[in-house]
Formats: sequence, C-alpha cells, structure tokens
Amino acid sequence: MGECIVLHVGEGRWFIIDSCLCPSTKQPIALNYLQSIGVDLSEQVVGILITHWHSDHIEGASTLLKACHNAKLYCSIALLKKEALQLAALYKKDIFADTDKEIREFREIIEFLSETKDRNRFAPVKNRHTFFDYRNTVPTRLVALSPSDVAVTQSMASLAELAEKQGKRRTRNVVPTSENLNAVALHFSFGNFSVLLGSDLEETGNPQTGWSAIFNDQIINELSLPIASLFKVSHHGSETGYHDKIWQELLIESPLSMTTPYTRSSLPTADNINKLQNLSFHFLITKDPQANKRIKRENMVERELRSIAKDRRTINEKMGHIQIRYTSDGALNISGNEHAVKFTTEVL
Ligand SMILES: [Zn+2]
Repeated sequence: MGECIVLHVGEGRWFIIDSCLCPSTKQPIALNYLQSIGVDLSEQVVGILITHWHSDHIEGASTLLKACHNAKLYCSIALLKKEALQLAALYKKDIFADTDKEIREFREIIEFLSETKDRNRFAPVKNRHTFFDYRNTVPTRLVALSPSDVAVTQSMASLAELAEKQGKRRTRNVVPTSENLNAVALHFSFGNFSVLLGSDLEETGNPQTGWSAIFNDQIINELSLPIASLFKVSHHGSETGYHDKIWQELLIESPLSMTTPYTRSSLPTADNINKLQNLSFHFLITKDPQANKRIKRENMVERELRSIAKDRRTINEKMGHIQIRYTSDGALNISGNEHAVKFTTEVL
C-alpha cells in the first residue's frame, strides 16, 4: 500500500509526487529509486508535492524534504490556513496517538520547516496553481486542477471542528473524511505529450467539489490544457474516483492508464479493473491488489501459524513499479518490475 510518482521534468530536473516507504528498507521509495539511477537528490529534485494527507501518500515525505535541499515542498492549501496550524500546534502536545503515521509525518515536516526558517521552501497550492512553466527546447508545464475553492472551505470547517474537540480525549481519527476532496490532481505536459495525474481526487456529486468542480469551473479551457494520453487513475481505480467526463474530455480515446492498489480496501476491485481496462489501450497496476490474499494454506497449518504468530507479514517485500518513457519519436515505452500487472484490450 502506498503511492509515489517521480516525474522527470526535463533537463535533469525531477519532481516527486507523494511518498511511501519501501517495505524492506523503510526508506522513501523515491530516494531508493532516484539514487539507483544516479540522480543527485540535493541538486536535481526541484519539488515535492504531497497531494493529500493520507498515510498511503505521505509516509517518508519529511525524509525526502531533508534529503532534497533544492526542493520546494508543496501541499494542498487546506493544510496552511489558521485552523490547520492550530491543529498542528495541538500535535505538539501529544494529544494524538503517536501511531498515526499522518501526524508523525506532518509534525516532522512542520518542525523541520520551522527549524530551517526558510519560508520559501513551503508553498500551498489549490486549483490553477502553476508549479513550473519551463520554456526550454521542449516546453514543460505542471499545473494543479484541484482542490476547488469550495473543497478548501469545507476542509477548513472540518479542521476547525477537530481542533475544538481536542483536549477532551485521545483520538485516532484526526484526518477529516473529506481529505480526498482536497487531493491535488495534476496536469503535466512535455511538448505534445500530456499526462493527467488524478491523485485520490473523488467525486461526491457536489458540483463544486471533486472532479465536477474541474469541469464546472472551466479550468481546462481557461488554462488551455491539451488532452492527455496517459492517466494515473484517481483513488486507486475506485468507483468514487471515476467521472465520465475525465474520459470524454480530458483524455484521448483509449489512453494508457495506470494506478496503484490500496490493499486495505482491495482496490481496484475486479469490476473496477474490468471497466478501466475497457476504457484504456492498456491498464496497468503496480501490483495485483489480491496478490497477498491468494496464499491458501491447509486449515491445520493456518491454525498453527495463528497460534504462534501475532502478526505476520511478508519479509523482503518489494513494491510494484511501473516506468513510462516517452521517446523522441513520440512512442511510449512501458516497463515494470515483476509485480506490475498489465491488462490490455490490444488485439494481437
Ligand atoms: Zn491513496
């Protein structure tokens, strides 16, 4: 479980979107990967974005921030308003159970930034934010499509409510449930090639939040964003992450699409996979969401194991990985490690 995207944004510059830990080394997966391909972390990483505040997208972000000296940290503006900072102050008092990964990570980041006193390293983002717009040999641009203004306001209200509750009892559930509405979906273009990165942005039926807001606010037209041929499917391929218009208006017909599993809720489901496969030329998942559940042992063996081990997990587990390379002649080269799964409608 966990999602991290590293994006080469041209001329040796890299951008990291979300963070998760390698199950074996417990290091941020982006560090391991970028170092393995010879990227100088302190020089070449220009930005780190936490698209939203959930443990499958934030673990290890503070370690990344400390290693990438040149990188600016971006997160949804919802975390930077007065109410959110009040909440951060409460974290210091240890009211919350320290087992909450989101909080540990958030506190690390806030503490690191206040130690460095470098205000320029932290930037809040919402819809229409431009991360960069390089006019190099190949024009390269990254913009935020969400969160919508209404989603930000809603999130403020729920954070304020949480802050009020504090001091009364220790609580685990401090992350507002509307967090996925604050997720930062992105549009990246590199010359004629465009990518839609859906983060965990969901659809609730409210025209002013989620995917609907992107269409209703005319963000695509206003920023003249070209249609994309590659889609990081939002919210681990779930039904709530789906919107007809994404496929009709933001993407070419039968694009290449991919996502990461969220194993705790077995996402994407078989139905989700079927639907996404039919809409795509290829649909890829970094790892089969059912993979760890398929190990069937005899009842007696299972009982014996349960009686001796409180907690069992796979050791030396590797994270699934997909690599997409856009070649100068306009082709897409797809590769992945042994966990990546490809569903295809391609006729051989
Ligand atoms: Zn997620």
